[in-house]
Amino acid sequence: MISLSKVNKYFRSGTAKNETIKAVNNVNLTINKSEIFGIIGYSGAGKSTLIRMLNGLETPTEGSVVVAGKEISKIKGAELRKARQEISMIFQHFNLLWSRTVQENIAFPLEIAGVPAKKRAERVNELIKLVGLEGREKAYPSQLSGGQKQRVGIARALANNPKVLLCDEATSALDPQTTDAILDLLVDINQRLGLTIVLITHEMHVIRKICHRVAVMESGQVVEQGPVLEVFKNP
Ligand code: ADP
Ligand code: ADP
Repeated sequence: MISLSKVNKYFRSGTAKNETIKAVNNVNLTINKSEIFGIIGYSGAGKSTLIRMLNGLETPTEGSVVVAGKEISKIKGAELRKARQEISMIFQHFNLLWSRTVQENIAFPLEIAGVPAKKRAERVNELIKLVGLEGREKAYPSQLSGGQKQRVGIARALANNPKVLLCDEATSALDPQTTDAILDLLVDINQRLGLTIVLITHEMHVIRKICHRVAVMESGQVVEQGPVLEVFKNP
């Protein structure tokens, strides 16, 4: 489903004229369909840059990034927007529209995709049930708990039936109990929909709880990868 080959991403560091930072350094990764794949590392390891290259929010300086059969780094405009419907994302701080209700937030990507009003309402109701937000349809984000906000984020991300869900520190702003509930929801969605999930985190617990395989990043490089039980086996 996802394949990265010899991917490099350099940023200008800003300090000296020609100085660059290798945010992602020669990364090769293959992620299978319906897999829950984790990327773990300390702050600054290159995790965000890597995951943002999977939906074209960043472009690799070198190498190829193929997601759901598309070379993401080579497409733009309408084609990229279409690809992004298949590769959606949830965020640490939810990125909800604060002036819109739960149901309006979830309907937003459907509006953009041109889904007619009646179909949209049906789909929103389905999604509300899927993520367990029944009764909160008319609430505004400011009236929701953190866990409920992330449920809205997940419903919105799933609206157009993506093939891949990218999770950028999706539970890092939540308390441990709420984190577990959201991780359970992600597993449920993975099993029910066969969705491929890629998540980045700095928390070992998140990886241990739901990931099938994991890559460990350090200074832009993947220093280890494999099944979670092998990479994190207790001595
Ligand atoms: P992580 O998500 O693991 O915390 P990041 O991918 O955010 O790591 O950052 C990796 C490195 O790239 C860091 O040194 C960071 O400062 C640098 N970096 C990230 N984005 C930019 C940018 N837009 N401009 C310059 N440097 C950046
Ligand atoms: P979650 O596990 O989704 O984070 P909480 O455990 O924080 O939710 O919330 C517990 C219950 O309180 C939920 O059933 C939710 O409907 C209700 N609730 C939370 N925040 C609010 C709010 N601001 N207004 C009304 N009800 C709320």
